[in-house]
Amino acid sequence: FILRVLVAPTSHRQFSAHPGSKLEGKVALITGAASGIGKETATKFINDGAKVVLADIQKDQGQQTARELGPNAAFIPCDVTRESDVSQAVDFTVSKHGQLDIMYNNAGIACHTPPSVVDLDLATFDRVMAINVRGVLAGLKHAARVMIPRQSGVILCTASVTGLMGGLAQHTYSISKSSVIGIVKSAASELCSHGIRINCISPMAIPTPFVMEELKKYYPGVDAQKLVKMVHDFSVLRGAFCEPSDIANAALFLASDDAKFVSGHNLVVDGGFTSIKSLSL
Ligand code: NAD
Repeated sequence: FILRVLVAPTSHRQFSAHPGSKLEGKVALITGAASGIGKETATKFINDGAKVVLADIQKDQGQQTARELGPNAAFIPCDVTRESDVSQAVDFTVSKHGQLDIMYNNAGIACHTPPSVVDLDLATFDRVMAINVRGVLAGLKHAARVMIPRQSGVILCTASVTGLMGGLAQHTYSISKSSVIGIVKSAASELCSHGIRINCISPMAIPTPFVMEELKKYYPGVDAQKLVKMVHDFSVLRGAFCEPSDIANAALFLASDDAKFVSGHNLVVDGGFTSIKSLSL
């Protein structure tokens, strides 16, 4: 009897082994994976059975992150504003692992811009759009290039709650993230005819490095702990605040077959923040 309890029947063993292997045999490429949401998602994907190529403009940090994540992680330097870099990252992934199943266009930056449209700096606008929008488009284009012949694949992008509402961030960033949602909606219908799904995730504020850098510019002299508390106070809901793992969990769902009928969707991960704000309008 004890033996039968310890050595469960095969079907039961398979059932209990399922969590943690949603991406078994899959290959993912994640941009902006050296830190924050990208790093957390790479970790989760690897823990769920995937091989992951991390692409980032920060070479040393990217290499360090890949080392931390072990043999199923590799790093390639990539500036998403350069189409040739994005194309090479896709080709590197395919030549290393034979396929690309999941492309996560996650790299993005915020920007320190004045609050009024009258004072908009269009050079800053161009720089942010080059990373947050053109970079996503380049990722979409080159992932589709290798996924369409296989008639399968999943493309993910990181948008933001700021792409859904005015007044949460400076115009430039909000516009860039609305555009990411637009890219997903626009591409979904074409890609679905090739068996490719595309979705984005809109996170609430999380004190990752780029958010901290921006806050330091707005609040010079305020120490880091206080800035983290400001972000949490802003986004807190019923005692919880948004963490990179919340976004990684959403990405895992969208990347896996659990979401096999979900495409063209913007998955908002904000603890209800945007709904509550909408109701109070
Ligand atoms: P992060 O700063 O930890 O990570 C961003 C990564 O992108 C960095 O590793 C950075 O080196 C990389 N990167 C920047 N420019 C790049 C370029 N040109 N080419 C390649 N890589 C580049 O910040 P994060 O919060 O993890 O940001 C990830 C994504 O999440 C971004 O698209 C961001 O806009 C989005 N987002 C973040 C929040 C938040 O509050 N943290 C909220 C909503 C959306």
